[in-house]
Amino acid sequence: MINYTNILREHNLKATPQRLAIADELYKKGHISIESLYELMVNKFSSISLATIYKNINLMLENSFIQEIKIPYSKSVYELTQAPHSHLACEKCFAVEDITIDLNSIIDIITKESSFKITSTNLVLSGICENCQLG
Ligand SMILES: [Zn+2]
Ligand SMILES: [Zn+2]
Repeated sequence: MINYTNILREHNLKATPQRLAIADELYKKGHISIESLYELMVNKFSSISLATIYKNINLMLENSFIQEIKIPYSKSVYELTQAPHSHLACEKCFAVEDITIDLNSIIDIITKESSFKITSTNLVLSGICENCQLG
């Protein structure tokens, strides 16, 4: 288990037991929605409210400790901040996978075809995951 106390402090966040538990769940699950996180957290902190989870998540987002991934036609998921990467979102089970692909060729094409200036590449591709293809 990674000790997130210092990592939280580096992001100007006090390492409260709740925040350490949130960091641990994000580390274990990779990507998680607020609702799923709430269910996991209630098992550890019986009196925790959904509002408290939202407050912590928003603060962690503001301080770049975590990142939001907006999933088309579904709820956002959150992950610990890491190197830029793209996402694959399953339309059936809503699982989200990481994928690292070189987007420079796509940016080059866009730059040639339009005068639009790309400043960020938050790519989410939708489809059916391996497990759901078998099912
Ligand atoms: Zn799936
Ligand atoms: Zn990711």
